[in-house]
Amino acid sequence: FSVIRKADPQIAAVIDAELDRQRHNIELIASENIVSEAVMLTMGTPLTNKYAEGYPAKRYYGGCEKVDLAENLARDRAKELFGCEHVNVQPHSGSQANQAVYFAMLEPGDKVMGMNLDQGGHLTHGSPVNMSGKYFDFYSYGLDSNGLIDYEAFRAKALEIKPKMIVAGASAYARTIDFEYMGNVAKEVGAYFMVDIAHIAGLVATGYHPSPVPYADFVTTTTHKTLRGPRGGMIMCKAEYAQKIDKAIFPGIQGGPLMHTIAAKAVCFKEALTPEYKEYIGQVVKNAKAMADALQKNGVDLVSGGTDNHLMLLDLRSLNITGKDAEKVLDAVAITVNKNTIPNDPQSPFVTSGIRVGTPAVTSRGMKEAEMQEIAEIMAMVLKDPEGTKAEAANRVRALTDRFPIYE
Ligand code: PLP
Repeated sequence: FSVIRKADPQIAAVIDAELDRQRHNIELIASENIVSEAVMLTMGTPLTNKYAEGYPAKRYYGGCEKVDLAENLARDRAKELFGCEHVNVQPHSGSQANQAVYFAMLEPGDKVMGMNLDQGGHLTHGSPVNMSGKYFDFYSYGLDSNGLIDYEAFRAKALEIKPKMIVAGASAYARTIDFEYMGNVAKEVGAYFMVDIAHIAGLVATGYHPSPVPYADFVTTTTHKTLRGPRGGMIMCKAEYAQKIDKAIFPGIQGGPLMHTIAAKAVCFKEALTPEYKEYIGQVVKNAKAMADALQKNGVDLVSGGTDNHLMLLDLRSLNITGKDAEKVLDAVAITVNKNTIPNDPQSPFVTSGIRVGTPAVTSRGMKEAEMQEIAEIMAMVLKDPEGTKAEAANRVRALTDRFPIYE
């Protein structure tokens, strides 16, 4: 960091402060992770200087031979990781990956089905404040009274609406999703089937969640959540849609690709192909189960009563604290979470009755089941009596983070 400190002390101070926060906070935001030094350093390389509009061997700029190698490595490794026919590694984000699939396959006003944002879906799955909800005629499906996807209601709606596309996948759903069933419904009604695996990509890559690739026409993802790569997106699809998808990204909705990020995606995919990464994801899932059990033993309710993946949704109604206040009191003892609506939430989306908690980042630090139990105990204690337990909780968090250092 000495170069940055000399060039721009103000930004260096921000980086130092954020690194210190990451070192001393327990990061439970389910969509965050801690990348390897190799991934991080690849982003800060001369590859950022290169314009490379187009695709390997078909660029609109000269001098792209070297960055072509990086993009080809990223594509080949992604194909090996997910077993897909075609992949585009250029989307700048998960949102842009989704937008590109819509842009490639839909006309404005077309009917689409996506999971309700309030029940676990993502903004880009048809929220009225997102481009998806403004340009297309989205219908939502959701959960049953047990907090599980209501597959029968989903099929009934698909038969009634006859959408041109069905979008599966979620941002806050703790259970295994039956992509095969949903894909069959899409086939039954003649809809394209798109699956957004942004959250569970790491689990899909390692077999800890069934893969949608055999059933879906399009699979989109981010690369920075459980996959533990640089901030970015990716689209996988059947070979027959390859050209349409590539054109939708460039020149459709993006300009020059971020070649330094694409190279870092390649590094991430190489890491994800190792036995160590598979072991890591196995531990992410074990840790989530351990945390879910410990929270429940300490009197905290969970939506759907548990978890199959890397995250869980805490239902705080019986503890008489809102999601907004829970986020604040946990932050005060250096535990970072995000407030989240629960199904049929009596509170507004800004206040909420829940928080979402995930284990990818703490597992990257090396924490295991015993630490999950300790974190769950601290959380339950703080949620029940924020003021009375603040000092003890902060001390216990500090002791934990000191035992599991990052970026030394
Ligand atoms: N899709 C899902 C399911 C997500 O959870 C997210 C991010 O939270 C996205 C897409 C969007 O990703 P990005 O923030 O990179 O645009």
